[in-house]
Amino acid sequence: MDFLNSIDQAMNKAKEVFDVACKKTGEVVNTQKQKFDVSSLENKRAKDFEKLGSLYFDLIKNEKIENESIAELVAAIKEKNEKIEELQNEILNAKNKRICANCGAYIEESSIYCNSCGAKVTIEDEE
Ligand SMILES: [Zn+2]
Repeated sequence: MDFLNSIDQAMNKAKEVFDVACKKTGEVVNTQKQKFDVSSLENKRAKDFEKLGSLYFDLIKNEKIENESIAELVAAIKEKNEKIEELQNEILNAKNKRICANCGAYIEESSIYCNSCGAKVTIEDEE
């Protein structure tokens, strides 16, 4: 969002410069101003599409979807949501923990033995 906002700001600034140039050179630069207006509106429209998509997703995510293209997109978004949640959980779980060299389970950093398989956790074996 910040990235898009900074594009908007850059566009507005560039537009101001062209507005001034416009007064000096007349119609020649006029299409440039319109091109910037088009770009600016396209950026704003892209944000509206994004919001619309997000709102529509919330409305239909639990419904049975007849339209194949929409059903595919909804499934793709759900899949990504699950993956994101999974990764975020992994990040949370990994905090202050180490992985058992024997069974791969997460163990508290202070533990001497693995809660899962009972193997002794030695720091030297980390590689
Ligand atoms: Zn283990």
